[in-house]
Amino acid sequence: MKNCATTETEKVLACLSNADPIFWINPQCLENDRVPEDLGFDLTDVLEAEARLGRFAPVLAALFPELESAGGIIESDLAVAHGFRKQMSAEVSACFQGHLLIKCDHALPVAGSIKARGGIYAVLCFAEQLALANGLLDLSLKDFTPLLSSRARSVFARYTLSVASTGNLGLSVGIMGAGLGFSVNVFMSTEAKEWKKTRLRDRGVRVIEDGSDFTAACISAREEAAADNRTHFIDDENSTQLFMGYSVAALRLKRQLIDLGYNIGPESPLFLYLPCGVGGGAGGITFGSKMVFGEHVHCFLAEPVQAPCVTLGMITGKHSNISVYDIGLTLDTDADGLAVSRPSTFVGQLMSSLASGGYTMTDKAMYDYLIDAWQSEEIEIEPSAAAGFDGPVRLLQSDEGIRYLQKKGLADKMDQAVHVVWTTGGSFVPASEHALYRKKALTDKPKK
Ligand SMILES: *Cc1c(COP(=O)(O)O)cnc(C)c1O
Repeated sequence: MKNCATTETEKVLACLSNADPIFWINPQCLENDRVPEDLGFDLTDVLEAEARLGRFAPVLAALFPELESAGGIIESDLAVAHGFRKQMSAEVSACFQGHLLIKCDHALPVAGSIKARGGIYAVLCFAEQLALANGLLDLSLKDFTPLLSSRARSVFARYTLSVASTGNLGLSVGIMGAGLGFSVNVFMSTEAKEWKKTRLRDRGVRVIEDGSDFTAACISAREEAAADNRTHFIDDENSTQLFMGYSVAALRLKRQLIDLGYNIGPESPLFLYLPCGVGGGAGGITFGSKMVFGEHVHCFLAEPVQAPCVTLGMITGKHSNISVYDIGLTLDTDADGLAVSRPSTFVGQLMSSLASGGYTMTDKAMYDYLIDAWQSEEIEIEPSAAAGFDGPVRLLQSDEGIRYLQKKGLADKMDQAVHVVWTTGGSFVPASEHALYRKKALTDKPKK
């Protein structure tokens, strides 16, 4: 195929299989002037998820002291990236237009990554279901604190939560599940970091490793759970609960933007740059944002050159029926949170009508941004979480990006554009690991 690429799609696929960075505009989204209505979910689902998180807030505040001041709501800051904007090279700065913000999910409490949204929400859904089935809750009282009782704990202790993870989802489900009194099994894929496993084992979580990738770990976990009716599998490849947990971020983002004085609308478009693995996190936030901001938000999914599973699925239309191995890629990346070979079954399809596009980047580029973020903003992120930083430049500088802005009638509105780079993980990474990341970033970085 590399020698006879003729159509646009073939050209992009040739680049993808060559592990060359691409910036791809989703033609379906380009043509839609409005958000499609028949998605199978709507704003009501997002609001319902937010309401559930609100009901559980007193429970979370009691379990996790770091949530006390926020009343049990797990949320991250939205920060104006003054420092990062200032240290851009003259070349990049010359083409940059609009406002640059960072959505600091790297510092989300309880789990230290974006998985504190979906993973924790999925555990709460199951806990609520069990509590209702066992008469632990009276919904009319709206008081969820009985879930902290020893009676509730003894019910939860009879059940096992199971999950497959590249690391961070395991951390979030493990911490939340163990907090409520569940047994938790985490099937870790081969790229999961040692410290994540240790942290879980210290909380009594069973960590299972068989040296397989994320897709294979999902299969093992799913099989084990199917054989035991007291095991509940949180399925990152299929879970609408995870997805809805993530989607709530959009409601919170809207309030934070208003607080900072940004009014998203026809004259002030919003651009989100979302590091993407299986697609649940990035997809859930894309979905929620489309429900909240409509056609005024433009979402781009960021993936490593060796693991572009969601973008590959959208380009080919094959979604979870194609894997990055099928086009000769290896999944070899330091961005462990994004090291996924096949997308979520339903998220990939949904993204076909919602995501504006996707782009891929090398590990080296992620390390460059990791160090830039540290030097300019003093934020410590993991390599996966740096992938969003490349988005604004790619949109504003690439032919594809410029064409997108023209086609959408946004080219002359970009001075008022709001770019939000989503940093998705890092605050739990031990200091010694951060030091290693920085060392690696600086060793590989050419002197400017
Ligand atoms: C899991 C993860 C993502 C992506 O989330 P998906 O749901 O897999 O798309 C991004 N960044 C980090 C740090 C993650 O752990």
